[in-house]
Amino acid sequence: PKYVYTWGAGKADGNGTMKELLGGKGANLAEMTRIGLPVPAGFTITTEVCTYYYANKRSYPKELEAQMQAGIANMEKVMGHKFGDAKGFPLLVAVRSGARDSMPGMMDTILNLGLNDDTVRSLENATGNARFAWDCYRRFVQMYGDVVLGVQKREGEDHEPFESVIEHYKQEAYGRDIVDSDLTAKDQQELVKRFKALVKERTGKVFPHDPWAQLRGAAGAVFGSWMNDRAIVYRRKYNIPSEWGTAVNVQAMVFGNTGESSGSGVAFTRNPANGENEFYGEFLVNAQGEDVVAGVRTPEPVSKLKAVMPKAYAELLKVRKILEKHFKDVQDVEFTIQEGTLYMLQTRNGKRTAAAALKFAADMVKERLIDWKTAVQRNPADQLEQLLAPIFDLAEIKKAKAIATGLPAGPGAASGKIYFNADRAVEAAEKGEKVLLVRIETSPEDLRGMIAAEGILTARGGVSSHAALVARQMGKVCVCGAADIQIDYERRIATVKGQSFAEGDFLSIDGTAGTVYAGQIPTAPSEIIDGLLNNNKAAQKTEKFKNYVQLMEWCKKATKLKVRTNADTPEQTAQALAFGAEGIGLTRTEHMFFEGDRIDAMREMILADNRAAREAALAKLLPYQRKDFFGIFKALKGFPATIRLLDPPLHEFLPHSKEQQLDFSKKIGVPVEKVMARVHELHEFNPMLGFRGCRLGVKYPEITRMQIRAILEAAAEATQKGFKAKPEIMIPLVGFKKELDQQVALVHEIAADIQKEKKVKLSYQVGTMIEVPRGALTADEIAETAEFFSFGTNDLTQTTLGMSRDDSGSFLGAYQESEIMPKNPFASIDQSGVGQLMEIAIEKARRTRPDIKLGICGEHGGDPESVKFCHKIGLAYVSCSPYRVPVARLAAAQAAL
Ligand code: ADP
Ligand code: MG
Repeated sequence: PKYVYTWGAGKADGNGTMKELLGGKGANLAEMTRIGLPVPAGFTITTEVCTYYYANKRSYPKELEAQMQAGIANMEKVMGHKFGDAKGFPLLVAVRSGARDSMPGMMDTILNLGLNDDTVRSLENATGNARFAWDCYRRFVQMYGDVVLGVQKREGEDHEPFESVIEHYKQEAYGRDIVDSDLTAKDQQELVKRFKALVKERTGKVFPHDPWAQLRGAAGAVFGSWMNDRAIVYRRKYNIPSEWGTAVNVQAMVFGNTGESSGSGVAFTRNPANGENEFYGEFLVNAQGEDVVAGVRTPEPVSKLKAVMPKAYAELLKVRKILEKHFKDVQDVEFTIQEGTLYMLQTRNGKRTAAAALKFAADMVKERLIDWKTAVQRNPADQLEQLLAPIFDLAEIKKAKAIATGLPAGPGAASGKIYFNADRAVEAAEKGEKVLLVRIETSPEDLRGMIAAEGILTARGGVSSHAALVARQMGKVCVCGAADIQIDYERRIATVKGQSFAEGDFLSIDGTAGTVYAGQIPTAPSEIIDGLLNNNKAAQKTEKFKNYVQLMEWCKKATKLKVRTNADTPEQTAQALAFGAEGIGLTRTEHMFFEGDRIDAMREMILADNRAAREAALAKLLPYQRKDFFGIFKALKGFPATIRLLDPPLHEFLPHSKEQQLDFSKKIGVPVEKVMARVHELHEFNPMLGFRGCRLGVKYPEITRMQIRAILEAAAEATQKGFKAKPEIMIPLVGFKKELDQQVALVHEIAADIQKEKKVKLSYQVGTMIEVPRGALTADEIAETAEFFSFGTNDLTQTTLGMSRDDSGSFLGAYQESEIMPKNPFASIDQSGVGQLMEIAIEKARRTRPDIKLGICGEHGGDPESVKFCHKIGLAYVSCSPYRVPVARLAAAQAAL
């Protein structure tokens, strides 16, 4: 089998579509070569080798060695240098990882491989540049020592061991800190010696001399890093299966560190933070690529290249155009300039914020680069909520004191207590605090802290620093490189212009402007919310608002699956409608019982020990419910409302503390002993599987009667006042047809009464929730009575998995870690288990009632993956909370395209 794919001199074995086999980096290096861009020659070892490696006790297929030799031979031919040449200019290579999707910072790259005590001399002689040759060698020993030989920070050490050696040496030789690029050839030579000694001391091994041994070691390290902790954490967060594996790219080196006419940089073809159509990036003169992202020297904006290297800059602008035209998307590129000549080292679709994604897509449709369908696909549904996130209140911002500015790396507004360390940030966030993670710069070790934080603030680093990269991807608010802030990790204090902030103090950051404020600043709704919900004219004129509205129109054009909302009040209903919901998929009537002193009547009803007393208490609740339903029908403007009858176990409504029980007994004049006894009686070992759902109505039909009366009287009133009311009465927790029959009989009986009393014609439906496996399995029988089904996937997940949502916290983490379940099944539908039950139910139900209306309510209705699944199995609608409606609409449209 072919394990090695080469590229170079305009030709490539692979191409851009082969990301599974070649990884993202390798596939695009081949593609760039094919379209004539200047890419140094190289080859990719495929992801299949990674799979083989882990399946065969970390060994390689026997054909690999010969194929790699051919790969190196091809590079030697194209570049005109020999690998390991100790006489002429030696071929040096970069060994680069490359998974299917880029995994920023997770994998390790080794540059300048092929150098040893002999080849460093031949490089020096061939170039006449001793500083350069030894700089390369020093970098190589350092990276190889770290990544391959594992010379890394030990417990209790503050600094990377190699960095410590450098710092030490600088003090010794110069008495102060100097930048690395000022180190002379002699200095570098000395450092190489000390590095090798360090390697010997820490590992007991001699640094490998033979370039081929170096190459094998490096490739092994890349494959090995697929299973390092950070890579695993990252994969878990983004649901990347570990079977994918990584490829390894071996590529001829080009050098940005030969002097002032060389350099390295990274750039986006457009601004990935706000979406502006401007070339966006940064570079460093006389540097190798790692320097740009490492944050040691602060890079220059890429526009300044024009002044220092005009020819290379013009070339780069040409490449920018070619790339966008070819890939039809915004690209994130890495490049190196060697003696004025530009080389492209990487391109990929740029990670972007939700705001940038929206603008990219809208602009590219206008530019006729993409069509509207592609534009819909280009907006990640799970990021859309970012656009609805609050911004700082403009009036408050005027009053606030800006203490520092940095780069606007992740738009949005965040306020929180500052923490200087990821673990403490996580701890505080777990306690429910809003947290800002404040670091000099971040590294992959900070990932957990970044996930937990509202926002990230760094003192060092540019727009391509780790913090900026991760923030953009996770949609976190981020300001980076706020250089005025001094951070003292030991004392846990940040100082800005004489003012200090201790851990736990509040700071606020505006990631759209790059500003840092002292204290906590109130936030205001985003333009989209303001335009949609508050009808604010100024907000409606903004480009962001218009682009959003355009996107939603496209979604409408594409969609089959309708989106409804879960709402219990007229306000929520109106909001959801403004977001484009087409009705209510779930009204939880019990929420209405907690308002004001309704709860007292509810408790009276529960305490009653005979039907008459119960009915008396229910009669007090009736007018409240009727009024609520009327409000909802009015807000719905003719859209349907699925209303679920009382579902939770009764004891949830009772007072639980001694004090509350005393209070309550006084209020209604019942002895406290009786209250306590009833609370005790209603206690259940497993309330989730207890006396709840339609079981309540079966035992106490008077509860059902009251609720139905309230719903239908409200509908009658609405009809009389000229609104259309379309109640869909939903019976929860049905597992037996007869349970449903009994309740439905009550509905029809009361409906007949009301139609006669009020002389109106009501239009209503009766259906059920499918939320226990028995209900799903007997769907054909249940559908004889039910006019619609709504899958209650929260309970259906609990009952199918036999896993209580509230108790699963203690083990779900371990389950996801060991990939037993790839995702939290309460957040995203377990498609092969719960999903299969849904499919069975649908199939059976349609046999009895071909036109049965099918929907889903529950948290899953707002999860993009689950929405796509619902589309696939042919539901008519999903229902989710009002703020998730846009997300669901986008996901539904994407599923349909
Ligand atoms: P990552 O996936 O972390 O970005 P890369 O493999 O892209 O890792 O390598 C990191 C940096 O190393 C690149 O941005 C580039 O500047 C430098 N680099 C990689 N390959 C080469 C090469 N062939 N010549 C010179 N520099 C290189
Ligand atoms: Mg890269």
